Amino acid sequence: MRYHTPTSFADAAVIAAAATGTLRFLAGGTDVLVQMRAGVVQPDDLIDLKHIPGVDEIEQTPDGGWKIGIAVPGIVLGAHDALVRDWPGVVEGMNLVGSTQVQGRATLAGNLCNGSPAADSVPGLIAAGATVTVTGPNGSREVPVEQVPAGPGRTNLAKGEVVSRITLPPRGKNGGDCYLRFIPRTEMDIAVVGCAVSLRLDGDRIVEARVALGAVAPTVILSDAAAKAIIGTTLDDAALAALTKAAQAEAKPISDKRGTKEFRIEVAGVLARRAAKIAYDRAKGLTK
Ligand SMILES: Cc1cc2nc3c(=O)[nH]c(=O)nc-3n(C[C@H](O)[C@H](O)[C@H](O)COP(=O)(O)OP(=O)(O)OC[C@H]3O[C@@H](n4cnc5c(N)ncnc54)[C@H](O)[C@@H]3O)c2cc1C
Repeated sequence: MRYHTPTSFADAAVIAAAATGTLRFLAGGTDVLVQMRAGVVQPDDLIDLKHIPGVDEIEQTPDGGWKIGIAVPGIVLGAHDALVRDWPGVVEGMNLVGSTQVQGRATLAGNLCNGSPAADSVPGLIAAGATVTVTGPNGSREVPVEQVPAGPGRTNLAKGEVVSRITLPPRGKNGGDCYLRFIPRTEMDIAVVGCAVSLRLDGDRIVEARVALGAVAPTVILSDAAAKAIIGTTLDDAALAALTKAAQAEAKPISDKRGTKEFRIEVAGVLARRAAKIAYDRAKGLTK
């Protein structure tokens, strides 16, 4: 195995583009090293991204958005008060990943690029309207997070491309978000269903919303129908019922040892309803 330590994303992309065998990037390593130890993956080239300047930084942009380095671990996100104030749902998704030990290494970029449909940080990023900068041998492009996953264990990144930054839009006024997941125990399990809602209010009325559902399809679903069910409403009972129905109609899960298809569909509706209520209360400043 060749272990590379590039000091720029351009160099990382050139190494990745030239690789002919199995290639992995190393961010926190909490997926990749576990897979290597289990013999699931034996990379011919392992590109450690942590030597690239800026990868461990969180920066607020002049417009109020956020740039997050690809090696920032969950624990650092959770300790960043201003980021948590703006995007509590994004951070709570990432902070559900693993244990304290895992939080010390695991990153948003790794969670996204590992390609799990149950990845806990991905619905929150999608609901937030986050984008990633993707750098390849011929330059960089900006990609909405929902376009990155391609199916279990796969992404739409082309050969030689690497995620070089995560961008969250400005939260602005009267906005709130939330991520909830269902697992059969209280900690350290994979989401049976996950749901994130981000919304903005004008007075009591929802004027913008994005709803993302995890673990109920090969990739996280951004549901326009679920968002439409609550936009223009004050999240009254009728809106919550419509949201529940829309989320359930959108879910296309499989049955496995963690839950049946029918159970997952039921839970998708329950979590959408609960996450929307929390996001709404956060937008009103009633809860953190
Ligand atoms: C005990 C344990 C518990 C866990 N619990 C959870 C959980 O509750 N929820 C959950 O969602 N996950 C969980 N995970 C999985 C894992 O911790 C997360 O997916 C984590 O966010 C991965 O981030 P990382 O930085 O460690 O990724 P890495 O292992 O470094 O990389 C993961 C994958 O992403 C690719 N990659 C990394 N960075 C980039 C980049 N910048 N550009 C392109 N590709 C890249 C790598 O090639 C690799 O395929 C758990 C893992 C363990 C070991």
